[in-house]
Amino acid sequence: MSDWKQEREKVLAEARCLVIKMGSAVLTGPDGLDSNVLDDLAYQMTVILTKSQSVRKILLVSSGAVAAGRSVLSRSDITPAKDLASRQGAAAVGQGRLMQAWDEAFHKVGINTAQVLLTQDDFRVRQRLLNARNTFSNLFDWGVVPIVNENDTVSTEGLKFGDNDALASLMVTLVGADLMINLTSAPGVYAKPPKADEKPEIMPVVENVATLDLDAMCGGKTTVGTGGMYSKLLSARRAAQRGVPTLILPGREHDVLLRAFDGEDVGTWVRPGKHAISSRKFWLAYKSAPVGMVEVDDGCAEALLKNGKSLLPGGILDVKGTFKKGDLIRIVYKGKSLGVGVSNYKSADIERIKGLKRIEVAAILGDAQYPEVIHRDNLLLEAAI
Ligand code: GLU
Repeated sequence: MSDWKQEREKVLAEARCLVIKMGSAVLTGPDGLDSNVLDDLAYQMTVILTKSQSVRKILLVSSGAVAAGRSVLSRSDITPAKDLASRQGAAAVGQGRLMQAWDEAFHKVGINTAQVLLTQDDFRVRQRLLNARNTFSNLFDWGVVPIVNENDTVSTEGLKFGDNDALASLMVTLVGADLMINLTSAPGVYAKPPKADEKPEIMPVVENVATLDLDAMCGGKTTVGTGGMYSKLLSARRAAQRGVPTLILPGREHDVLLRAFDGEDVGTWVRPGKHAISSRKFWLAYKSAPVGMVEVDDGCAEALLKNGKSLLPGGILDVKGTFKKGDLIRIVYKGKSLGVGVSNYKSADIERIKGLKRIEVAAILGDAQYPEVIHRDNLLLEAAI
């Protein structure tokens, strides 16, 4: 048996904690939430929780609030526009319905549920993160299934393409999951973008998600028709960096979770990275979006990529955006993102010291400065952003 098949079998047999993400396209039909689908999924998850020898915890990341809200409003002849405020309003209408539908579905199989709404801001504040982790820990102890969604109504960066895929990867690290399952409307990952008259083959495995050319495979970030696979693979890449595999499954296929746990080769298996990054580095890179960037020269790119060095002022060619000391910034080389890191300098100071040697930096800013603009300990190369 090939390595990845053995790996898949072993993880499915031994995983203790699962993060399962479900997209709106799986949970909703033309008339809003499809309670048959929710009932069926709740039943399957309960079978896994009760029959599996290993699985003890399941955390759900469920989309569907906006779609549910739109369908409720349409019954009152209201059609919300597509702008952010309208979608946030629709999410506020729909979140209650979504949660009610999940609660009813799990009630039928004797499981309690909990609603947890999070925004990107919650990940920036350590105390909030700890509170969330403690809450999940209690919920799991009580046998309750937490159902997480983005708190769309207050989220300023919210409701962008793929938010809940990103949220699911953060949940993997927060609760220490051993497997992420992403239920999508597609049968798995297509090797190239599907066309109306031609469905390419489904990849049974993605060996190294970091090396995939997502733009070529998924036809760019915003192409619909691909089941939003771009953001699913980006999320899988983050999980892979933490050493956690992702199983991408066709969420509307009958008994798909049970079949996967019974050993059927359904969907796409995304293998974990060989060297897991620490949770500290993971949070550093993904708890917030980068607010600026520095462009580096050949020598600097080589020092970072090949020699594991820190980023020094001398290798910086250009700085873009306005940021403070301590902000997350992107490192760019020849138009390509090399990674992200925490800047020891504000952007205006980098503007003054770019390209300079340490002694020249001291002459401008004084000598009580960090030698590095980004220390290698505060740097994540190949960040999935
Ligand atoms: N939070 C949104 C919703 O519940 C979905 C966002 C997403 O799917 O990424 O409708």
